[in-house]
Amino acid sequence: MRVGTENDVITARVGIAVQGVRVDAPVRRPQGAGPSDDGHVLVDGANAALPRNPDSPYEVRDGRIWHGAVDTGLSLTVVRRPRFYDLATADGVPYEQIARLHGKDVLATTVVQTCVRYAEDQRCRFCTIEESLRSGATVAAKTPAQLAEVASAAVRLDGVRQMVMTTGTTSGPDRGARNLVRAVRAVLEAVPGLPIQVQIEPPGDLGVLAELRAAGATAIGIHVESLDDEVRRRWMPGKSTVPLSEYWAAWDEAVRVFGWNKVSTYLLIGLGEDADSIVAGAASLVERGVYPFAVPFRPMAGTLARRDGVAGPSVELVAEVTSRIAGLLRAAGMTGAAQEAGCAACGACGVLRAAGG
Ligand code: SF4
Repeated sequence: MRVGTENDVITARVGIAVQGVRVDAPVRRPQGAGPSDDGHVLVDGANAALPRNPDSPYEVRDGRIWHGAVDTGLSLTVVRRPRFYDLATADGVPYEQIARLHGKDVLATTVVQTCVRYAEDQRCRFCTIEESLRSGATVAAKTPAQLAEVASAAVRLDGVRQMVMTTGTTSGPDRGARNLVRAVRAVLEAVPGLPIQVQIEPPGDLGVLAELRAAGATAIGIHVESLDDEVRRRWMPGKSTVPLSEYWAAWDEAVRVFGWNKVSTYLLIGLGEDADSIVAGAASLVERGVYPFAVPFRPMAGTLARRDGVAGPSVELVAEVTSRIAGLLRAAGMTGAAQEAGCAACGACGVLRAAGG
């Protein structure tokens, strides 16, 4: 049996985002900065980062996703291991430890893999930025020259179309942003025209936003995860010491410098906020020209949330928030694809793109 309506397909897309799928995927991101886990696959041809879950009710047969006896109407192919993973720098660092493939065509790197907020009572409860460092999957700091070398190979050998550069927060007044200016410049010297998104905390000195744009970054993510101060204090004890007023000032300046819909933020569904609260926050962001990339929170291995037994959100909550925010985005004429680079453009960690946002 095959499901029929567009709504059924969105529900199935949310179902696999939350409950995962019984599939093995050679390209994975088991740990790292931010909220994402997962195997990288294509669902109906679009990037999707899905939990690999042997207990999921969803399974893949003949390239299609089934829920029991029901064909969801979605196709799935796994992303192949990219060729650049087999290379290493002249001083012996595997390229895979410098940047990784996300989806089929996004190169992602955490330029500084340590975070000043990683003490247990300070760090974000959904984040594992330093776990991948401890496990030896990556190196602590990537030099601009290393990033340029890997980006060049990933574009040449594997058809990478955009790059995401994030960073752990540093103790400097710019919270790590200036380091990304140098990295963007070096990559664009090696690969002119590659769309790059940078991801930072609100920098103390907003002037660095213009420096990032002048270096050639296409888009920027300034990630708040929640606009509810009580949720922020509970989930992000360190990061919530940066007041929301600093986020709004940084988003406004970023929109001025990068342009309308070239700025985004993550909103996590499943931190205890109800749908109305998340959607109201998203509406304020859309009004200011900022794309709210709402994704389900995933209690991945290595996080404090997982240690404490916190579960992910319900399929119903993710479906409701996603479809309401997709409606806001459509009404505003905002699409993730128009960002050209970054998580909203990739879309794999959420369902907004599949829902039309
Ligand atoms: S949405 Fe962002 S973190 Fe998720 S796979 Fe795409 S680039 Fe990576």
